Parts: sequence; C-alpha cells; structure tokens
Amino acid sequence: MSGIYIHIPFCRQKCYYCDFYKTVNTSLTEQYLSTLKKEILKRKNYLKNKPIETIYFGGGTPSVLKDNELIDILNLIYKEFQVATDVEITFEANPDDLTISYLKSIYKAGINRLSIGIQSFQNEYLEKMNRRHNANQAVASVENAIETGIINISVDLIYGLPNLKNEHWSASLNQVFQLPVQHLSAYHLTYHKGTAFYTWLKKGTLKVLKEVDSIEQFNLLIEAAQKNGFQQYEISNFAKNKMYSKHNTSYWLGKNYLGLGPSAHSFNGVSRRWNVSHVESYIKAIENNHSYFEEEILSDNEKYNEYILTRIRTIWGVSIDSIQRNFGEEKAKYFKKNIEKYRLTDLVFQKDENFTLTPKGLFISDEIMTNLMII
Ligand code: SF4
Repeated sequence: MSGIYIHIPFCRQKCYYCDFYKTVNTSLTEQYLSTLKKEILKRKNYLKNKPIETIYFGGGTPSVLKDNELIDILNLIYKEFQVATDVEITFEANPDDLTISYLKSIYKAGINRLSIGIQSFQNEYLEKMNRRHNANQAVASVENAIETGIINISVDLIYGLPNLKNEHWSASLNQVFQLPVQHLSAYHLTYHKGTAFYTWLKKGTLKVLKEVDSIEQFNLLIEAAQKNGFQQYEISNFAKNKMYSKHNTSYWLGKNYLGLGPSAHSFNGVSRRWNVSHVESYIKAIENNHSYFEEEILSDNEKYNEYILTRIRTIWGVSIDSIQRNFGEEKAKYFKKNIEKYRLTDLVFQKDENFTLTPKGLFISDEIMTNLMII
C-alpha cells in the first residue's frame, strides 16, 4: 500500500496560527501546476509501481484550484501510477469554497473524501484566527457536501486558543457532532515560530490559555467524542464506524508515500526526503533541472524512533514483538526497560506485549515518547 500527497501551497489569506508552507501569491498557480506535473513525471518510479491506495490534496488551500486544474492533475496521476479502484482521494477545503457547483465538479473529478478546515463554529474565534469563513458557512459546507454526494467528511477544529472559554469549546463540539460527519481532527493550538500568534505571544499582547483549561478542553473533547460514538484512534483524530483517514493511518503505520510540491515529504522505507519550502525556488529548480529537495538515510536508531513516535499515539500502539522483529533484540530490551516506569500506571494500557496510551497518557504523550526514544 502506498500513498501520494500533493501540496497546493496557495491561500487567499493567512491564518494567524498556521505554520504550513503557503503563499498568498495565487498568481503563481498556473506556473506552479505546470511544474508540479513535471515533478509527477520525474518521480513516477519513486513508489516502485506499488498500487496507490490513497491520494491526499493538502495545503495551503487545495480548494483555491479550479475544477479543470484538479482534473488535470488527477488525470496525470491515473496515467502514470497504478491507482487502486477503491482509492481514497481526500481534498482539504475551506468552507467558503464549498459551493454546490464546486462540490459537484470535484466529486465528478474523483474526490471521495473532504477534510474541511472549520476550526471553530463561533464567529468570535474565527475572526481571532483570521479565518475567511463564518459559522454559517461552516455548517453549510457540510450540508452542501452531503447534498452533492460526498459523504466521507472530516472536520478540523482547534482548541486551546487564547481566551477560549470551555463552554464555547463545548458548543463547537456539540455543533460538529450534530452534523453528518464521520471524522474529526481536533488539535490543541501550538505557537509556531513565524506565525502572528507566536509574535504576539513574545510581545506579550496575547496570553496562553491556562493549563487547567487546556486539560479541561481535551477532556471535553474526549467525553463528547465518546458520547457521540467517535473512537479516538490517534491523539487528535476521531472516527465513527472505523472511518479512519486511510491516508494518515498509512503514515502512522510506516507505509511508503510520495510527496509532491513545495515542502512535501516523501518516505520509501529507507530514506526521507523533503522538497524546498518555497514555491518560486521549487519552480525554478525543476524547470532548470536543479536539485529541489534534501534527503536523509534513516539510521537504525532513527527508524526505531520513528516507529515509537508514529505508533504510540494510535490505537495500534507499540508492540515488543514488532520492535524485536524489525529493529532487533537490543532495541526491544531498551523499550522494555523504558516502558517499565509507566507499565503499571494509569498512563499506559498493556495488552499482552502491546502498549497504548490511556487518555491521561495521551495528554503527556510528548514526555512519554521522549522517554521511549533513543536520543
Ligand atoms: S490554516 Fe489553511 S487556510 Fe489558513 S493559512 Fe494555513 S493553510 Fe492557509
């Protein structure tokens, strides 16, 4: 099983918390797409003819693309790769782009899963984050998608925002679970260097939410998800009826993937590579046949660390047997020694030789992961 990630690096405006690579210079779109097609051709053998089971358009904002631009890219992928008949094709979108006519065309183009960046159902917080849409558009985007026939819908929400009141977070959760969505990705705000929120935090004009409220909001999320039949299958991801994101699950399970476009990462089991995070440099380098990526061959320790990092926060967890098989006896012993201090606590759940984190453990997963990794 393999996947393809395509980065669409354009946004109509920048959200104050976001550190994904993007530019608001959408005039480069046409030129970019022409170069992207060249990268697809250059790298068509990267996955060694393995069937493509997932395709993911992320960004940036893929929904800035016109339907014919999307169709062009998908046609080329179908031509150059062996795409599985039941492929999951996810498209990240901003709510205000999801009109019925746009949805109809992308559905016809083959999009069968939407990841809608709603972030909040309250105008007050949407404005504070500099989102383009309002609460009504957020609800309408889901309703429009259903009406069009795209029924596999994921919604993104953010909590832990400065001054986010617990009752307002609960209201957003109530709203999302009233909608016909099958998947929720809910992230606690992180202050990334280079974002407006980070600058204001350093200047002292913005205050981090109190830890007690962060914990409360995480607990409210878990409670509401459980009450509504959503399984927490990864620290920030919840699904109904096992409608997991196949694409993200394949990252967590260590499957190979090809990343196309500026800032996109690729993994082939042996090495990781990542493209330059700058659209003009990406275009110039590919057009002139110059290098446009960096690559690292993973050492044994790095492969083991990757396994811990990606698996411990999922329902699949970390298994001693798998460490022994894939990384050897020494690493298995290292893991056993380091998991010991958590083994009989309420942070870790053990089933035979397999370890997962409890909700309490998930909240301090960074600390637990650091202790299990080889630093
Ligand atoms: S959150 Fe999405 S829409 Fe907002 S700036 Fe980041 S990539 Fe663009």
